[in-house]
Amino acid sequence: MAKVLLEQVSKQFGTVVAVNSVTLEIPDKQFTVLVGPSGCGKTTCLRLVAGLEEASAGNIYIGERLVNDVAPKDRDIAMVFQNYALYPHMTVEENLAFGLKLRHTSKDEIRRRVGDAAKLLGLAAEMLGIQELLARKPKQLSGGQRQRVALGRAIVREPQVFLMDEPLSNLDAKLRVQTRAEIKKLHARLQTTTIYVTHDQVEAMTMGDRIVVMKDGVVQQVDSPLNLYEKPANLFVAGFIGSPAMNFVEAKLTRQDGKMFVDGGVFRAEIPQAYIAKLTSWAGRPVIFGIRPEDIHDRAFHTEVKEGAALRAEVDVHEPLGSDIILYLTAGEHSIVARVDARSQARMGQSTEVVIDMKKMHVFNADTHEAIL
Ligand code: ATP
Repeated sequence: MAKVLLEQVSKQFGTVVAVNSVTLEIPDKQFTVLVGPSGCGKTTCLRLVAGLEEASAGNIYIGERLVNDVAPKDRDIAMVFQNYALYPHMTVEENLAFGLKLRHTSKDEIRRRVGDAAKLLGLAAEMLGIQELLARKPKQLSGGQRQRVALGRAIVREPQVFLMDEPLSNLDAKLRVQTRAEIKKLHARLQTTTIYVTHDQVEAMTMGDRIVVMKDGVVQQVDSPLNLYEKPANLFVAGFIGSPAMNFVEAKLTRQDGKMFVDGGVFRAEIPQAYIAKLTSWAGRPVIFGIRPEDIHDRAFHTEVKEGAALRAEVDVHEPLGSDIILYLTAGEHSIVARVDARSQARMGQSTEVVIDMKKMHVFNADTHEAIL
């Protein structure tokens, strides 16, 4: 096992800068997720570590070794792809053993590793373990089983680093959630440094010890799932992490009698005392006020909100999810999404009163989009 280090790594394809001066340390044994919208450069980052792309600039280390000029097969990594990439004419067992045979691993060692991986995946899986499937060909397997074989093939290599590129994308929603948990369990047992690429922020949040959010080839924030949610570094991260996404309102901060307010046109809300020191220098200046849907409550069920600001709004859409209700609201010129208590009586076409939990507010610089609070 090893840490992975990217030092000011860039990759250009013609005029497209896919990865722009990325410096990133992936600590030993950690499960790190690269996440971002399509085209943000996450797959290219992974392929650079794998050696499938050559960096235009910068250095890549696996462990202490500079690997820029090391061939992919000599980097001691194993990749798992979205499309499984299994050999159709080989049985599961042969698929698992193939990479080891190529490397002239002894027969006994191959048997041991394939057996171990089969057992591990059999244990990790609730249903039919891979062990009973060893004699089958890939086309006789379900998508989930094929993906497990693809994982198995990476495991038998006993590499220093696993690189996974959207490995769950081809699975249906239920299997994806199940396999997500299996991969986490596997990582807990094997403790192999893992870099996992996904465009799905929920997958990133549920799987990553640490998450790297990327946009336009640039790393936006590297943090734990909770910190990304609670303390996004900028407007992009704030909007990308969380579903439904955070609400943003162009606003002004004002001061009056030692108090401070957010003035969003249709609403004026007092800022909690604890935040005033941080925001004082922004008084009178335009900012972007952010609040997550789950921090806007139906007025009738907001008993726990101590520093709240009431707001009257029209209900455009009402989505009852059972556990809670998503309301799409219009307040003046603002469209706002709220996730309210399942008991809420708010209904489409009617007006309702919601309360913003101001302790959960965010404030961003309107020009740079950096987080202020
Ligand atoms: P996705 O989730 O869609 O795979 P991504 O975040 O993984 O997106 P990359 O595949 O790394 O993004 O691509 C980053 C940018 O580099 C994109 O603009 C893409 O079009 C471009 N790109 C990637 N590979 C090549 C290539 N071989 N030739 C030219 N441009 C490329």
